[in-house]
Amino acid sequence: MTEAGKIRVLVAGALGRMGRTVVDAVRREPDLELVAMVDTAFAGREEGAAGVPGVPEFATLAQCLEQVTADVAVDFTIPDSVFANVIACLGHGISCVVGTTGLSAEQLEAIEASCRESGAGCLVAPNFAIGAVLMMDIAQVVARYMPFCEITELHHDRKLDAPSGTALRTADMIAAARVECPETPGPEGSVARGLVHNGIPIHSVRLPGLVAHQEIVFGGQGQTLSIRHDSISRESFMPGVVLAVRRVLSLDGLAVGLEKVM
Ligand code: NAP
Repeated sequence: MTEAGKIRVLVAGALGRMGRTVVDAVRREPDLELVAMVDTAFAGREEGAAGVPGVPEFATLAQCLEQVTADVAVDFTIPDSVFANVIACLGHGISCVVGTTGLSAEQLEAIEASCRESGAGCLVAPNFAIGAVLMMDIAQVVARYMPFCEITELHHDRKLDAPSGTALRTADMIAAARVECPETPGPEGSVARGLVHNGIPIHSVRLPGLVAHQEIVFGGQGQTLSIRHDSISRESFMPGVVLAVRRVLSLDGLAVGLEKVM
C-alpha cells in the first residue's frame, strides 16, 4: 500500500485492448494507484507510448519487478504469457488478478502451490462482467430441470482462443449442476456440431463488430429457454476487475471465478 493507503497496481498487457481499458479504470479509482505498465509492445517504442504521464512503462515483467513495488498485478496478456507472468508476480509476493484465458488445470494447480508458498492471493476469472457471472449462475439452476443444452459464444475476430474461457467454464458449471446427463446428439466427430466439452456442444463465432456475447439454449419437451449475455463494450468488465483488485488482497490462495469475491 502507498502511505496514503492506496493499493499499488501494475497492469500487464497495458497496450492491449483490455489492458488499456484497465489502465483507465485503475486511474479513475481514488483508492488505487497505477504504479507500472508492462507490455511486450513497449519494446522499441518511445517513452510515453501509453500516453499516461508519470507511470513507468516496461517491455518485460522481469524489468518491472526489479524496479517497482506493487501490491496487485492485473494480467490481460496472451495465453502463452500469462502463466509465467503470474508465477513471477506471486514469487515477488504480488497478488494477481487474471483475465487472460487459456490457463490449464495443471497450471492452475501450480499457481495454487505458488500462492501457498508466497502468501499472496490470485483470482482467475474467465469473465469479469457481472452479468456474465449471473448468466452462469442462472444456467446452473436451469440445468437441474432442463439438462439438454448447447452454448453459442460470439466474439470479435481477433480473439486468439476458441472456444472462449467463459463458454468452457459455463459448460463445466452446467455439467456439475445437472442430475441427468443426456447424450450429445449428432454424429460423433462432426465439426458442425461444435466442440463437445463435458458433454455440451459449444459453437464459436468470430466476427468484426462483436465484443463478447454468449447464449445458452436449453431444450425441453415442446419448449426452449434461452439465457443470453452481451458485453457491448470492454467497460462491461471494469467493475468486476476493480472489485477483484480490492478483494484479492484478502484472498487466501487461488480462487477461480469472479463469483468467489462477489
Ligand atoms: P490483446 O489486445 O492482444 O492484448 C494483449 C497484450 O498483451 C498485447 O499488447 C501483447 O503485446 C501483450 N503481451 C503479450 N505477452 C506479454 C507479456 N509477456 N507481458 C506483457 N504483455 C504481453 O488482447 P485483449 O483483447 O486485450 O485480451 C487479452 C486477454 O484477455 C485474452 O486472453 C482475452 O481472451 C482475455 N479477456 C478476458 C476477459 C475477462 O473478462 N476475463 C475479457 C476480455 C478479454 P504484443 O502485441 O506484443 O503481443
